[in-house]
Amino acid sequence: MNKILILVAEDDTPVRNLITTTLKAHGYRFVASATGEGAVMEAASHNPDIILLDLGLPDIDGIEVIRRIRAWSNVPIIVISARSEDSDKIDALDAGADDYLTKPFSVDELLARLRVTQRRLALMQNGTAQEAAYENGQLRIDYAHRCAYLAGEELRVTPMEYKLLCLLARNTGKVLTHKYILQNVWGSSLEADIGSLRVFMATLRKKLEKTPDSPRYIQTHIGIGYRMMKVE
Ligand code: CA
Repeated sequence: MNKILILVAEDDTPVRNLITTTLKAHGYRFVASATGEGAVMEAASHNPDIILLDLGLPDIDGIEVIRRIRAWSNVPIIVISARSEDSDKIDALDAGADDYLTKPFSVDELLARLRVTQRRLALMQNGTAQEAAYENGQLRIDYAHRCAYLAGEELRVTPMEYKLLCLLARNTGKVLTHKYILQNVWGSSLEADIGSLRVFMATLRKKLEKTPDSPRYIQTHIGIGYRMMKVE
């Protein structure tokens, strides 16, 4: 029995039913809400492990729901977006969401996102973010000595690449937007700098990934940003 409790905030009844039926079939527990205000209340009273949040709710905007919940909770939030444009997903991620699903999505996609989020949850609960070293698959970062290793071999990364790697590592499982990365690594959020971020990412990947064309560690979200995956 999976003890994970999921809050589903979705006003579209068929979509909500698809989600809750899927959750039930896979042993998840859930609570559901059709409004944003309701979602904030359910989040406060049930303390869910993961929130699936539709961005287009009838009362308050999904982004506002994220802001309110983030005022007291780090619970992973996966937003469900009806629009194919990236801007609402980017706004949601910048407001503190962890991941996104675009409608229409398949049951397999939903379950895959939940698995990624559960791995992130496990890392958060183990307090990895505060530890002196980071381990993920064959990657090891020794924060105290500012060194990174792949399969025991030291990675020859530049100070900027190291900063970028640490930011991604500390947020393993979470999609980070270009803007967030630029602000936290370069202290800038200029649209024009996304090009230099791409260049740094490409050189970092050449060092980190055995096959940079099919990366295992750093996932690209085209038009949105990047995510460090938990590698087994
Ligand atoms: Ca909706």
